[in-house]
Amino acid sequence: MSDWQRRLKEESIATLEQLADRFGHDVIDVEALRPAFDNFQMRITPAALEQIHEVGDPMWNQYVPTVQELDIRDGIIDSLDEDADSPVPNITHRYPDRVLFLVSPVCASYCRFCTRRRKVGDPEKIPLNQYDSAFEYIRNHPEVRDVILSGGDPMMLSDRRIEYLLQKLREIPHVEIIRIGSRITSHLPERITPEFCEMVKKYHPVYMNTHFNHPRELTPAAVAALGRLADAGVPLGCQTVLLRGVNDDPKVMLELMQKLLKARVRPYYIYMADQVAGGEHFRTTVQKGLEIVKALRGWTSGLAVPHFVIDSPGGGGKVPLLPEYVEEITDDEVVFRNYEGKRFVYKQPRVAAAAGCGADDGRPTPDIVPIEIAKSPKRAKTVRRRKSANG
Ligand code: SF4
Repeated sequence: MSDWQRRLKEESIATLEQLADRFGHDVIDVEALRPAFDNFQMRITPAALEQIHEVGDPMWNQYVPTVQELDIRDGIIDSLDEDADSPVPNITHRYPDRVLFLVSPVCASYCRFCTRRRKVGDPEKIPLNQYDSAFEYIRNHPEVRDVILSGGDPMMLSDRRIEYLLQKLREIPHVEIIRIGSRITSHLPERITPEFCEMVKKYHPVYMNTHFNHPRELTPAAVAALGRLADAGVPLGCQTVLLRGVNDDPKVMLELMQKLLKARVRPYYIYMADQVAGGEHFRTTVQKGLEIVKALRGWTSGLAVPHFVIDSPGGGGKVPLLPEYVEEITDDEVVFRNYEGKRFVYKQPRVAAAAGCGADDGRPTPDIVPIEIAKSPKRAKTVRRRKSANG
């Protein structure tokens, strides 16, 4: 057993009794929480435990079961309808050129908002002995150029098994990139061993989609693990879920995005929390998400501004959402407001204006009229100076 496996086994909290021993039996009502625990298993790694400072804080909310998980109103078991797009076990093929390949049933810590909580933690629902049909499916679909390994957390597998998966995928000529979706850098950073980093280099391009929801998760150990991956040539992105009681605050999100960039991770997505049964209490409004994006865009580097998306319930895929910056578009001009709310006008090109806003309406394209240059005093000055410099 490797060090990370031993630490996971011996130092994690995985029962309600252990949870009550740690935080107090007056705080943890073991019997009241039992149905939520039975519905979706719990484990909290030492790294995640250290991040919990008090009852009800953002880390607590992510990992400690609550009776609210049993209050299901609009919740859907398979909220993204992934099973409908699953041609063979362990594969979801929804988008034209990429597939999701579930390779691990388990996670280091279990997040209470998990979209895949119907399967995660259950080896019967994400079987480890059904890889062959998945490889065959990918082999027979030349349009698949991108394979996303997910689960559960693929980094819970041994290096040997991960290498087997990477090797098999690299034998398929049309697979161009492989992505590993993993929350391990936050949950169990010691899992990113030098041996893993050496191994993964052989199979590039291998990306990692990390998952951080709160700036507190970027501990020195997590940042060091991300550094090891970046040094091994693994491009790092982050998927963040917008969660009530965790990160539904522009200041928190801004700090998170900036810390991610410092740790060499490119923020990729902020997701609206899915409409998943058991996780409804984490949902906040779309307006809150737009408010957060507005608080990022322009106020910090564009690199720190991820796409804000809803993964459509029922399997429609990810749809990006943007705050409204444009006030008016005509054939002549676009009127918009910048990040500070100031109003600006952008003139449309003359050709487009004459033809009618880029529409192919059958009218002949008008002759291009030469534009008078150096109209502005600033530009005229520059031209004059150049002329005199040339004698
Ligand atoms: S790490 Fe990912 S798959 Fe595992 S419980 Fe958390 S959200 Fe779900």
